[in-house]
Amino acid sequence: MEHEKATDMEFMLKANLKCSGSLSEAVSSDELTEFVNYCNAELLKKGAPPGCGAEVVSWAIVADKLELEIVSDRFVRAHDALLRLKNEFGKFLGKHRIGIRGMEINDYEITMDWDTELKLKKLPFVKAIKQEAEKLKLFLDIDEFLLEKRIPDRIIKLLDDKKEAIKWKGKSEHWELLFESAKKPFHFDKDPTEEMAKRGWIRHAAGRGQFIYGPQSTKIFRAFERILVDEIFTPLGYEEMIFPKFVTWDVWKRSGHAKGIYPEAYYVCTPKTRDPEYWEEVIDYYKVTNEVPLDMIMERIENVGGMCYAQCPPSWVFLQGKTMPDDILPIKVFDRSGTSHRYESGGIHGIERLDEFHRVEILWMGTKEQVIAHSKQLQDTYRYIFNEILDIEWREAWVTPWFMAQEGKSGLSELKEVGTIDYEAVLPYSGKLLEFQNVSVNGDKYPKGFNVKLQSGEELWSGCSGVGLQRWTAVFLAQKGFDTDKWPEKFRTAVGELPEVFRFL
Ligand code: ATP
Ligand code: ZN
Ligand code: MG
Repeated sequence: MEHEKATDMEFMLKANLKCSGSLSEAVSSDELTEFVNYCNAELLKKGAPPGCGAEVVSWAIVADKLELEIVSDRFVRAHDALLRLKNEFGKFLGKHRIGIRGMEINDYEITMDWDTELKLKKLPFVKAIKQEAEKLKLFLDIDEFLLEKRIPDRIIKLLDDKKEAIKWKGKSEHWELLFESAKKPFHFDKDPTEEMAKRGWIRHAAGRGQFIYGPQSTKIFRAFERILVDEIFTPLGYEEMIFPKFVTWDVWKRSGHAKGIYPEAYYVCTPKTRDPEYWEEVIDYYKVTNEVPLDMIMERIENVGGMCYAQCPPSWVFLQGKTMPDDILPIKVFDRSGTSHRYESGGIHGIERLDEFHRVEILWMGTKEQVIAHSKQLQDTYRYIFNEILDIEWREAWVTPWFMAQEGKSGLSELKEVGTIDYEAVLPYSGKLLEFQNVSVNGDKYPKGFNVKLQSGEELWSGCSGVGLQRWTAVFLAQKGFDTDKWPEKFRTAVGELPEVFRFL
């Protein structure tokens, strides 16, 4: 932990080791003094530079307890010292036929240098936070179980992450132009969502950021999919799969989304029981009032995960814990089996930013070289599609992938191996740029997270590309408009006649 070196830390821990019998009767005070002196001289200094480590500064025997006060620096954190002591004391007591029953943590204070403006209000397992004179003092609220789980270390790591994040916040995210298409003729200068709605191609659905796609817009989506099939999936050897659209927390823990997805997730709950009696009160309430009693429902359901956010994470369960022979690589699959859901809050705008959208997810895996090479091949094919079939104006930019930004590792993407290319196009009606798809090389992130290995022992890598059908539509219609005579010939043919099904009085 390199950046930790600059930070000074002090730990003060008051804890008791509870034993199975009376210590005052079984052990002499001389023996105990000798034991503590040994710990202070050797056990609690092990691994620390000379003069550093932990120290028992006071101790006492009260009936069946050894009461301890331990202070330390960051080299042997006091909670590690306590765990070492517990082990050693257990061995020591063995001779006296007494065992250790448990630990009681009374006070645990951590003081550290704090030279950022970041104000902390609340931290998990911390009952009070004091911030003064460039020092941060945490009063922990932990027990034996949390201590064994190294929660104090995780809290310190969390603070490091927060400090890193603050550093990156000031700087603009890595963004580097990779490619810019030629200028293209625009045939429209209005908001395509409004025009589609006016023509009855789409209608607002009941949910926020949700539309019902009429026969015309659906036909456009399907034409995009056919282009992907003809230009990418068939020639490049892809097979179709069906990925789950409900995602459990275990998947998001493994994919890393559990570190930050909360403000944008659509949460999914199941009933605590399907016993009709358990639900009778809710049913009766509805029948009597015609109101759905949300608070009564909330008491009877529990969250089990969320709706598909990024498409590929739940598919990795297919490979989880498996080893594959190298000769089946590279593997190329895609999924177009359902919706993605994100709570976009105030950001929703027409079909450009939806809470429910449709995306074709393209997923490939192989050795590092294969994955990078295939990413290049995809990029070439996309350029062909945008130039020759859709005839749009777009650009490609190298950006920090979400999982690196999340961990404050934005700098790493400068290596240009693991990272994301965003495809952006201008919307003539607003002059704004819209990201309409991306191509990502994710390194060994997913195989690691889901424990997938290669027979040869070589690292398995993967990449993915998400084609947002609404975003492709928004970009195409915003630039090329609704007069199909002005559409590029190849695309007009791919779409065919736009069906007119509904009429309203
Ligand atoms: P943005 O910066 O516009 O929010 P993002 O970086 O969140 O996009 P990704 O997570 O990279 O998007 O998702 C991949 C693709 O999914 C996007 O390129 C886009 O095509 C599509 N997409 C993402 N969010 C939405 C949305 N809210 N509505 C429609 N399509 C979306
Ligand atoms: Zn993906
Ligand atoms: Mg987004």
